[in-house]
Amino acid sequence: MNTVFIRKGKCKRCYNCVRNCPVKAIRVKDGQAEIIEERCVSCGFCIPLCAQKAVEVRDDTALVEQMLLDGSTLVAAVSSTFPGAFSHIKPLQFPTALRNLGFKYVTETSFAVQMVARAYAFYIKRNPEMAPIIASPCPVITTLVEKYFPSLIKSLIPIVSPTVAMGRIIRQKYGPDVKVIFVGPCVAKKSEIQDVHCRDVDVCLTYPEIQKMLDRKGIRLSDIPETEFDGPFASLGRSYPLIGGYWKKTAISAGLPETETIATGGKKNSLELLRSLDRRELSAPFVDLLFCEECVNGPMMPTETSTFERIKLIREFASFIANPEYAQRDILAYRKVDLGRSFEAKPIKIEVPTEEAIRRVLSELGMHTSADERDCGACGYDTCREKAIAVLQGLAEKEMCLPFLMDQLYDSYRTLIQLEKMASIGQMAASIVHQINNPIHGVLTYIRLLLKNLKEGRFDPSFFEQRLVIIEDELNKCCNITRALLETSRPSEPALRDVDINRLLSQVLEFLSHEARLSNVHFDKRFDSSLATIKADPDLLHQVFNNLALNAIQAMPDGGCLTVSTFMNNEGQRIGITFADTGCGIPPENMKKLFTPFFTTKGKGKGVGLGLAVCQHIVKNLGGQIDVESEPGKGSKFTVWLKSQKSE
Ligand code: SF4
Ligand code: SF4
Ligand code: SF4
Repeated sequence: MNTVFIRKGKCKRCYNCVRNCPVKAIRVKDGQAEIIEERCVSCGFCIPLCAQKAVEVRDDTALVEQMLLDGSTLVAAVSSTFPGAFSHIKPLQFPTALRNLGFKYVTETSFAVQMVARAYAFYIKRNPEMAPIIASPCPVITTLVEKYFPSLIKSLIPIVSPTVAMGRIIRQKYGPDVKVIFVGPCVAKKSEIQDVHCRDVDVCLTYPEIQKMLDRKGIRLSDIPETEFDGPFASLGRSYPLIGGYWKKTAISAGLPETETIATGGKKNSLELLRSLDRRELSAPFVDLLFCEECVNGPMMPTETSTFERIKLIREFASFIANPEYAQRDILAYRKVDLGRSFEAKPIKIEVPTEEAIRRVLSELGMHTSADERDCGACGYDTCREKAIAVLQGLAEKEMCLPFLMDQLYDSYRTLIQLEKMASIGQMAASIVHQINNPIHGVLTYIRLLLKNLKEGRFDPSFFEQRLVIIEDELNKCCNITRALLETSRPSEPALRDVDINRLLSQVLEFLSHEARLSNVHFDKRFDSSLATIKADPDLLHQVFNNLALNAIQAMPDGGCLTVSTFMNNEGQRIGITFADTGCGIPPENMKKLFTPFFTTKGKGKGVGLGLAVCQHIVKNLGGQIDVESEPGKGSKFTVWLKSQKSE
């Protein structure tokens, strides 16, 4: 199992982890982020960035608890950052806590820091021609070099990190069969000890994992006494995790001039420096790099206290208990422990897509020219081009592009509006056929009559003229109906115009008059003649009014009255349009769901449940709202509020 992983189903697609991963080791597939193990350098930076807590670090507490159950001898190697992590207790309560958990011996990794520093100094002196030399205590840096800057492998000092060195020293002191458990703030060490060159530590536990074990055993830190660490005894190495370039000092003491050494840390600086060395743009004989700004800011470091408070606590502990005499004795005792290792290039093969393929993906995202590329970063990539490359490399999905999604949403919204239009048209088809049938029957009757007169040789011009005028009127009615139908059904771009609300409502009611007659519903129009015009798309408003009036008619199957009123509010800033029916009313439990898409109480084939959702969407887009009042058995009142032009 990878050290860092993303729990399936918990990702909510914010792309914060994608954006911040230094090596783009996070792929998004089917809308879920996942870590690509071979690309990941286990820096752990993505863990605290995920607000959903979807990114997790592998929990190894069960492994350690099983070792205890098996009766193994457990030796803890504690990072010197611990006083900053457990700031609420005295430092020497911490070894007691670990002993209470079942650890037989509790040692400090900072002893190994001194041993590694010694080994570095020897190595630098023996290899005066080697440049650049990269200090190798930070497993993220060494993994970065192995995977992403393999040309720099020969620059890594072939000496184990203090963690692994401590494992070797512990085995020499306490025996080869003990279980060595490192305790610290670093996620990458969990991966480091899986390397074939670093198997001297059995498990790495982070501070939160230790806290979890303490909680499970009900150990309250405030209640426990202080006890000393077991040897070998640390001294100066305790300041290693702090700012100041511990390894740089080592290099200087080994004879390198200070001007030829660089000590830095943090994601940006580390990557920039490694890139410069890789491209030979920079010559630096000695480089001291930590991927976190310093270990005291490691990703699993509890952050209840500030960085500076943590540094202060670590410094205090380092100065309070340091015993150079013991340390010197132990350094001599363990000087023969082999601290060597080798590094292997594990280059990540990254396919570079062709320019043509990149342009094709950009085009599919609606970016046909470079001017269309917004480079907004919402997808987790700094530029649209990087995002297109990631799509081609199988790391990203097109749907991660927010503007692309917005365009798609807008298209779906327009399709929905169109669907709803078609649904209402379907419902009205029967009545429209009826409306057209009547005049056509009249026309046919008169044409037959005129033909009969002609055949019988009777031609009275005034009789003919009167009948032809009636025929013209009837055909005009048909034309008006079909024109209105066409207007309603054609998909249209929203086009804002001055709209006379009263006039538009009259057209809608005229359009629905036959439907109303069939249901024995009469209209009561109460229009405010002083109403100001509003800026809106008349087609869309027609759709809103048509829906609300049709719903009202359908709510009165046994007849009733639909009162349609228009009015201005007191300040004259809003126009109200009410549709009040005397129908069956709406049950209270349905009131909240009225505007939910696909919610309908109409029978099968009578509606798809989009009408009110679409109405609300259209009205909201105009800066308005729809209010509903209803009393079951008495009727409902829908009020559409729109901004009048006075308010603009
Ligand atoms: S940070 Fe990553 S894993 Fe967490 S929700 Fe965002 S995209 Fe998903
Ligand atoms: S642990 Fe680091 S390298 Fe791995 S996915 Fe997270 S941010 Fe990227
Ligand atoms: S426009 Fe799309 S692809 Fe470009 S940066 Fe923004 S979200 Fe990413």
